[in-house]
Amino acid sequence: MDILLYDNWERQLRTFTPIHKEWVGLYCCGPTVYDYAHIGNLRTYLFEDFLRRTLEFNGHHVRHVVNITDVGHLVSDADDGEDKMEAGSRRTGESAWDIAEKYTVAFKADCALLHIREPQIWCKATDHIAEQIAFIAAIEAKGFCYQTSDGVYFDTSKQDDYGYLARLNRAGIEAGKRVDIGEKRNATDFALWKISPKDSQRQMEWDSPWGRGFPGWHIECSAMSAKYLEPWFDIHCGGEDHIPIHHTNEIAQNQACYNTRLANYWMHGYFLQIDAGKMSKSSGDFLRLQTVIDQGYDPLAYRLLCLSAHYRSQLNFSWDALKAAQTGLNRLRESYFAMPAGGSVNEEFAQRFLHEINQDLNLPKGLALAWEVLKSDISDADKKATITHFDLVLGLELAQWQPKAAELPAEVIALMEQRKQSRANKNWAESDRLRNEINALGYDVEDSAGGMSAKPRAGVSV
Ligand code: AMP
Ligand code: ZN
Repeated sequence: MDILLYDNWERQLRTFTPIHKEWVGLYCCGPTVYDYAHIGNLRTYLFEDFLRRTLEFNGHHVRHVVNITDVGHLVSDADDGEDKMEAGSRRTGESAWDIAEKYTVAFKADCALLHIREPQIWCKATDHIAEQIAFIAAIEAKGFCYQTSDGVYFDTSKQDDYGYLARLNRAGIEAGKRVDIGEKRNATDFALWKISPKDSQRQMEWDSPWGRGFPGWHIECSAMSAKYLEPWFDIHCGGEDHIPIHHTNEIAQNQACYNTRLANYWMHGYFLQIDAGKMSKSSGDFLRLQTVIDQGYDPLAYRLLCLSAHYRSQLNFSWDALKAAQTGLNRLRESYFAMPAGGSVNEEFAQRFLHEINQDLNLPKGLALAWEVLKSDISDADKKATITHFDLVLGLELAQWQPKAAELPAEVIALMEQRKQSRANKNWAESDRLRNEINALGYDVEDSAGGMSAKPRAGVSV
């Protein structure tokens, strides 16, 4: 079955055709590791995980690359201000290197909690300085950059189609520029290499043909995607904010060097908002996955919340919506757990699911279909097999879940003990009364050859 993906380069749905038969190249812009990821950032990585799983579900082998931006991302997108890593170092008193390591580890842990599949390749900007210098040298050799007193800049006026991805109105930007662009020739020109200021020593800096300094933010993605994929690969992703600057500039670099726009398909996740405002790391006021966990939610409730909104629509976060997702997750887990194994995947539902997810990742419909399966009149065993099949893409890992005995409240445990006693005494009336009391607390009791167990009743959040 065809997979349709929305490509932001062409601004339309396109049938996915891989460049190579054997593998699909997927490059996703990774985190800037000067602070924890917020749940908005994680929404973008969840979207990318849904994409990867959909491709894999269709039988593709995905070569997935995610970079770690640990140098060069300046506080201002206009290429001035401090490096975010050095600013983070000042904020916390730790070295820029230690900060990068700490937040990289934290980021990977968040991804694991959300069941985001690990890329085959993680690559750090600071491990690829030589590749970035070589890339800049190639751009220079082709005459697309110039040097100023503080760095090497890409000359965007040399490319007629600069800004096409974002449909930038270049004349408008030039005419409307209010900020001082310093020695830059055009407002849209951007740094390839920044020279360290003479009066201060940076923690992260390297020698280069242009002076001691550090790479601009965009060059790492051009250099590392060319190294680990090819200068022309299948799909490039990021959040929607990357369209007008970061991705536009990656494309300019590759056009200059290789005459490619990097990727055949450009896909972007829309933002998570809070109270209709965007959540940003630099504002310092944001929700982490740990905040969600501290409030008593399962991280996968957040995954489910993200599954329920299409990646090309903005999602407004609210605690009520998360609570509803948690209730849905509990119900799904309970129902799944209660059904017997040994069934087979229902073909009709499987085809419908594939159709939905292949329509530009329509996961909200895919999820709705899981509920439809539960309500349908196919056998419980077939329901379980069919939902297990869907879960390869949903990633809720329903089969791993079990009600934990330790989660039972003391009150329920005490009633269970009393009931065990009354059954041992063959006092069936008392046993039934205790069962009712346990039920009234929202728990079901099951008697089996091995003894007695209680678990939260499906649909009851405890
Ligand atoms: P950063 O760590 O700031 O470089 O961002 C990491 C990723 O998160 C990028 O792909 C951004 O586009 C994306 N992103 C940033 N803010 C949000 C948000 N509020 N909602 C969704 N994605 C976001
Ligand atoms: Zn990037």
